[in-house]
Amino acid sequence: MTFADIPNQTDLKQVLRHSVQRGHVAHAQLFRGAEGSAALALTLAYAQYLNCEGRAADADDSCGHCPACLKIKKLAHPDLNFILPTTTTKAVPKDATSGRFMADWRTFLAESPYQGFNDWMQHIGAENKQGSISKEEAGQLLKLVSLKAFEAAYKIVILWLPELMHPAAANAVLKLLEEPPPTTVFLLVTNEPERLLPTILSRVQSVVVRPFSEDDITNYLTAHYHVPEVKARQVAQLAEGNLGAAIASREQSADHDYADFFIKWMRKCYGLKMSDVLALADEFQKMGRENQKEQLSFSLGLLRKVLLYGLDPQLVPHLPSGEQQFVQGFSKFVTVRNADQLTEELNTAHYHIERNANPRMVFVDASLRMGQQLRQAQ
Ligand SMILES: [Zn+2]
Repeated sequence: MTFADIPNQTDLKQVLRHSVQRGHVAHAQLFRGAEGSAALALTLAYAQYLNCEGRAADADDSCGHCPACLKIKKLAHPDLNFILPTTTTKAVPKDATSGRFMADWRTFLAESPYQGFNDWMQHIGAENKQGSISKEEAGQLLKLVSLKAFEAAYKIVILWLPELMHPAAANAVLKLLEEPPPTTVFLLVTNEPERLLPTILSRVQSVVVRPFSEDDITNYLTAHYHVPEVKARQVAQLAEGNLGAAIASREQSADHDYADFFIKWMRKCYGLKMSDVLALADEFQKMGRENQKEQLSFSLGLLRKVLLYGLDPQLVPHLPSGEQQFVQGFSKFVTVRNADQLTEELNTAHYHIERNANPRMVFVDASLRMGQQLRQAQ
């Protein structure tokens, strides 16, 4: 993985590059990012940049084709090690340490390095078992770092999800962080830093990874998966910065234009004409429950944009052209006076749909109440 493979994150990539170029590579770094963020992918790109043999000293990225790059890309470099949460499975009924799962890990990362813990558990066939970084892992880890780097400048240990460490494993890691073996770099990747021991937090350099923006996700889906732009944007808005979730749902998401429906819906609500609302309720009914829920989640997101736009258009940059005109016009009808109630209506509708209420009734009910709210904006 190269830095260029990862969307955006420009500033952070620069910080990481500089640390290497200036020879200030911290021996323990904690990449903190939400699930589906670039955190894990960045550690892979960073590891490759650190050990690339073919790049100029001040190059912006690893070369991608030297022997080290090729081995790291295939996750087959002897100095690139992984510690992962695992559990016993049909294929690995005992001694479930990370080393036994390397083949799975390679196919998992090849699918996408933006997936989360549950995806990984599914991938290894954990079924309903809880995964963790076991205490047996501690012994493996100590053995691992006692060896010198085989062929690269740095021995790298990527520890994915340290919040899932058994206390014995956490103790072993803590000892290593206190007395780091020379030329070994620990890259910890966490989704939940608040669950880590303060003693660990105090021994690592923090690397904060921001969630992907809607634009990042939209562009990634169109470029890598050829998702049409309107649909990609729709998926991106629902994903809330989680690229892994966006990739996973790119095909499940219906060929249904949520923005278009919302615009139509709000006009009918405001019109408060019963026959119009009923006709739209039929359309809503036909969507199916999963799409109904997505429509409501999407509507919440767009409503929030409308409110923000009304407060200050600068707060909502990069609106797709199809939504721009609507958001601008509609922002007169969504103000601090009714925004809470409108949000509440959409949340309530989502709640009822999730619990199998009649979609048509939920929709009509919400429409009538929202219509009244919209008329009370000023
Ligand atoms: Zn290289």
